[in-house]
Amino acid sequence: MASRFPASWLDELRSRSDIVQIVSGYVSLKKQGRKHWGLCPFHGEKTASFSVDGEQQLYYCFGCKAGGNVFSFIMEMERCSFSEAVEILAERAHLPLPQMVEDEDYERRRSRRERLLRANTEAARFYHDMLFKPGGAPSLQYLRGRGLSDSVIRRFGLGAAPEDWSVLTDTLLERGYTLEELSAVGLTVVKEPDRPGGKTRYFDMFRNRAIFPIIDMYKNVIAFGGRSLGSALPKYMNTSDTPVFNKRKGVYAANLLREQRHLDRVILVEGYMDVVSLTQFGVEGVCATLGTALTNEQARLLRRFAPEVYLAYDGDSAGQHAILRGLDILREEGIPAKVLDFPDGLDPDEFVRRDGAEGFRALPALPAAAYRLRRLKEGFDLSDAEGRINYARAAMSVLLPLDPVERSAYLKTLQVDTGFPPDVLLQQLDLALQQQSGASASSSAAPAPKKKPSRPRPEAPVSPELAAQETLLALLATGQIPKDMVEEKDFEEDELKSLYTSLVSGVSAASLVDTAPDDETRSRYARILLSPMAENTDQMISMAAQCLGRIRRSAWQKQFDALQQQIHSLDPADPALTNLLKEAQSVRLRLEKLR
Ligand SMILES: [Zn+2]
Repeated sequence: MASRFPASWLDELRSRSDIVQIVSGYVSLKKQGRKHWGLCPFHGEKTASFSVDGEQQLYYCFGCKAGGNVFSFIMEMERCSFSEAVEILAERAHLPLPQMVEDEDYERRRSRRERLLRANTEAARFYHDMLFKPGGAPSLQYLRGRGLSDSVIRRFGLGAAPEDWSVLTDTLLERGYTLEELSAVGLTVVKEPDRPGGKTRYFDMFRNRAIFPIIDMYKNVIAFGGRSLGSALPKYMNTSDTPVFNKRKGVYAANLLREQRHLDRVILVEGYMDVVSLTQFGVEGVCATLGTALTNEQARLLRRFAPEVYLAYDGDSAGQHAILRGLDILREEGIPAKVLDFPDGLDPDEFVRRDGAEGFRALPALPAAAYRLRRLKEGFDLSDAEGRINYARAAMSVLLPLDPVERSAYLKTLQVDTGFPPDVLLQQLDLALQQQSGASASSSAAPAPKKKPSRPRPEAPVSPELAAQETLLALLATGQIPKDMVEEKDFEEDELKSLYTSLVSGVSAASLVDTAPDDETRSRYARILLSPMAENTDQMISMAAQCLGRIRRSAWQKQFDALQQQIHSLDPADPALTNLLKEAQSVRLRLEKLR
């Protein structure tokens, strides 16, 4: 039976745990306008982009986009679970812990996710235990053969899927999990009968593979990677996306990153084996993406662990290509990045074995621009005048996004490589700058620099309508605008609709944040629900009216456009035309009234 803290007791605790006071225990805050500001404790920064909103009892960082309420703040700072955060705050507030209550609704919402995660945990334990049994011998031999010690094997919970069709599934079925659950988390493949009355067949997804459990920051086993031991393909297999796993959002070894505080950089490698091996040799802060190229979501996650990201990919051409893409993503997110330069064509694993952690730390880390220039240079023949000219021209695209000091440093390198005097290169750069501001809409295939990452980028809502809907929710959360001003249908997304419904039924912004299903959503809620920039109630009401005007105009406009399109597609003799024209006319009238 699931139980939890009674809601009224949690409200009491929340009201006794002022977020400004709690955060001040960790971060020095300054009041500015309606909010308090300080240096973000979750990512390294020199100017304050971390805001604490005493009115809504929320925090949000405009740099790394971490956000939430007083409970999530403690969870993040103390790296603990929700119940532990509650206990810490209760002790601080001298509030005795209550009797836990049983809660059907809570049970229903939480239980599926919990059961799926528990199935994964039990599978991970099964695989790990198997590693030291006869069925796991080939996996153990493989892992030891790669130089892994038993202690690092334990630390990462590595395991073995034996060569057997269904031993894991059968074990978990016996423990009460259903085929549907096991198939939902990707542990089991279920084949429905191909004829009526036939038998449902099933088999284990991972067979005869060494197993790398994928564990999130909160120590949940969310998925698995399996390295094939025989000739089976693919060589590496990952769990596909499931209700508890999204491969674009997490990284391998997030659980360990979270334990390593005050990292000055995160090292991103290509494979799970690289992560394990570098960790064994004492390199800290290593992680890998989950079988995909680096995504924007992952880049934002990494920023929460360290101020800078080092890419340590293989020297082959696929690895080198992945570096350029990774640098692009990191630049889009405004995260400083460097590239580790491995000598003699070694990959990270081979290198650390040869030179150890000391050698690894001493490796040169190329700034992104230096790496891009080097890659670019490889494409031109510099022994030839034309090659030098073309290289100098192309190099401008790398220099454009840099600040003047960096540019001047690279202009010197470029001068050495091409032989052009500095003033000529500067003129070329000016030309490129003009072209960029003139034709910023052109989509040249060259590595055209994306817009310069203006430091902490406030998250830009995608459309003005969405921005208006989000502002409207912030205004509603203040409780200062009349609730009947707004309707559910003013919101397009289901997520925003449900925030609206909760707010009008009296749920506070700070407690709404607890209902978010994952970190990213929680941060989004916190951002949306921060106090709006308004002086008083009148200003808020007028802001709300403006937002509503925009939202409703756009809704009518969409309807009008759809009708127009329908009308144009009809044959002029079509009898339906008259009605459509009438309807379009009345929509047009409504639109004009709203202008
Ligand atoms: Zn931050």
